[in-house]
Amino acid sequence: MVLPMRQLLDMVSSDTALPAAADVVVIGGGIAGVSAAYALAKRGVSVVLVEKGQVGAEQSSRNWGWCRQQGRDKGEIPLARHAIGMWANMKSEIGVDVGWENTGVLFVSNDLAQIASWQRWADYARGHQVHSRVLDTTGVAALMPGSTAKWTGGLHTPSDGKAEPSRAAPAIAAAARRLGAHVLQNCAARGLDIQGGRVAGLVTEKGTIRTSSVLLAGGAWSTLFCRRHGIRLPQLSVRASVLRTTPIPQLAAANVATPGFCMRRTEDGGYVVAMSGTGTFPVTPDTLRYMFDFWATWKARKAKLKLRPGLDFLAPFGGNANWGMDAETPFERVRMLDPTPDDKLLTRGLVSFKETFPAAAGARIGRTWGGLIDATPDAVPVIDAVATLPGFFMATGFSGHGFGLGPAAGHLAADLVTGATPIVDPTPFRYQRMIDGSRLAPDSGL
Ligand SMILES: Cc1cc2nc3c(=O)[nH]c(=O)nc-3n(C[C@H](O)[C@H](O)[C@H](O)COP(=O)(O)OP(=O)(O)OC[C@H]3O[C@@H](n4cnc5c(N)ncnc54)[C@H](O)[C@@H]3O)c2cc1C
Repeated sequence: MVLPMRQLLDMVSSDTALPAAADVVVIGGGIAGVSAAYALAKRGVSVVLVEKGQVGAEQSSRNWGWCRQQGRDKGEIPLARHAIGMWANMKSEIGVDVGWENTGVLFVSNDLAQIASWQRWADYARGHQVHSRVLDTTGVAALMPGSTAKWTGGLHTPSDGKAEPSRAAPAIAAAARRLGAHVLQNCAARGLDIQGGRVAGLVTEKGTIRTSSVLLAGGAWSTLFCRRHGIRLPQLSVRASVLRTTPIPQLAAANVATPGFCMRRTEDGGYVVAMSGTGTFPVTPDTLRYMFDFWATWKARKAKLKLRPGLDFLAPFGGNANWGMDAETPFERVRMLDPTPDDKLLTRGLVSFKETFPAAAGARIGRTWGGLIDATPDAVPVIDAVATLPGFFMATGFSGHGFGLGPAAGHLAADLVTGATPIVDPTPFRYQRMIDGSRLAPDSGL
């Protein structure tokens, strides 16, 4: 079964027979899951990846394609830096071009307080060998030659870049298969088989795989999967909208974020355009469940979030988590989250884009799509073992920036599952902070 796509996405071949056993089973074929499966297979670990729909079909093909260290939470900078190195090396690593280009990332603003905070961030990042520069009006103009708008300043990270979301996750999954990983699509994980207080297997709709280690990389679904097993994971989803223009002349090479829109050049000469930090926040039972966890985040972000009033009990992952393992689960009922894009918001973004770049006047909308971003209260992912359930690991909650982090996040998850020395200090990603009363809020460093 292949579902129609609003966004572009390559297909990857599936294995059909469910292996009876594996060292590790990965749930979810997004960028985090496929990268973990690749890293595990490369170490000779036997690994099965199960994906309820199609590899890459949720967030990992719906994002803007930015790979950035710029503006990351301070704890994430080393992982983001590692990820950029992996993107740059991806073609020689897996033998496929996933569209990596070292274009740089540029934020622009007229807000002096914001520009000052960028300077503080750049000073901090330099200590981690990330060389970002705060630019003045002239410096910004040089990087946006087609723009008629004047900006007071900007933050620029030349080492950042972009990759092609339609290709990356499928290409990495295919590379994992070549190394011996099994990849099963249209195969939902229903739940864990727990024996003697630890993971003994994974129950899927196609049968049970015996394993001592399960890595959950389920994107927006992770909280529901965890709740089935009494594991608390505060995670909410925000609907974001994206458009892709028809080909137009190049306006700026870098990925640019202005207060009115964000843009990334596509390989066919169009632009992916969206509005940064904006989205619709559906009110679901999870909103009530995690209200206090997200209170500080809500206060910090509410200016850019549209609340969808009324309780959205139809949201597939907001409801009960008491299903049996021998019948259809919510994961099988919704093979692919495909929210309708917010056309009004996109029109605003496109108008602002064309006002800034007169040469874009002829751009037409080629495609539009929506995506559900899975967020944690501090906008930092969880990449960790769950201490109360030996054998259960997570790499989830990427909060709108997991595409860029993906290859390194998968590598780190593989390190933790196999007990190898982690590529970076995993402390910022610990699960325990979600449940031990830590004050969770987005990093105010920017
Ligand atoms: C509009 C938008 C713009 C974005 N822009 C950027 C950007 O420019 N740069 C950036 O770095 N990030 C960006 N992001 C965020 C980025 O796309 C995500 O953080 C990243 O793709 C998350 O990857 P993932 O593997 O964790 O989750 P996903 O890609 O969502 O994959 C999770 C997978 O798990 C599967 N699954 C879930 N439950 C089960 C189950 N029980 N059994 C089997 N399979 C299951 C799902 O079907 C899904 O395919 C953006 C996101 C959106 C929506």
